[in-house]
Amino acid sequence: MILDEEALSRSQNLEYSSGTITVLIPFVCFRCGKCCRKLSVGLAPFDIHRIAEFLRLNIKDFIIKYLGEITSEEDGEMRYKLTKPSKPCPFLSYSNMCTVYEVRPLACRSFPLETDFGDSGIGCQGYKQVKKVMNALGQGVPYFVGTSSKNKPIQSQWKRIYKKFLRAEPSDEMKQAFIRINNIPMELIV
Ligand code: SF4
Ligand code: SF4
Repeated sequence: MILDEEALSRSQNLEYSSGTITVLIPFVCFRCGKCCRKLSVGLAPFDIHRIAEFLRLNIKDFIIKYLGEITSEEDGEMRYKLTKPSKPCPFLSYSNMCTVYEVRPLACRSFPLETDFGDSGIGCQGYKQVKKVMNALGQGVPYFVGTSSKNKPIQSQWKRIYKKFLRAEPSDEMKQAFIRINNIPMELIV
């Protein structure tokens, strides 16, 4: 099984470099389920293996149940034709929960910060919030976590940065996540 462990373990946060410093911007999902209802998720081979295993189905049964018709099977490799509807996602529950969350596809883990099409115009609130925070922090460049070479703020800079961050009117969950992932001492921002 081909498994992109590095991609699977990547966090859904961004590093944002503005001027000489870098801060982390968290992605907070509003759990609205829009992406799971409106977008078709492509499954890589390792996604199929992981989800089938999670659901205790063999690959053939998984493909027939969720993807379509098997068109050929040679040397253990199955080819299939997609005939099943992919929207809304069959793994989305009535209460907007992902029923395969632990093994959700790489495309779902990457959405929307690491997809080159952004949120595909579906109006993801979490994506909007990240963009608002980037604007509030000032002109800068977003990076995947761990790839920017710029410095983290020193303690005396946090008050000013946090004030700018608040201009984006972040949700309480976003505020808590921002403080937590950047390890901002509470006494510096109250
Ligand atoms: S559209 Fe955005 S906020 Fe809504 S469930 Fe998807 S990722 Fe979360
Ligand atoms: S696998 Fe889960 S996260 Fe991905 S689209 Fe389906 S319900 Fe949403």
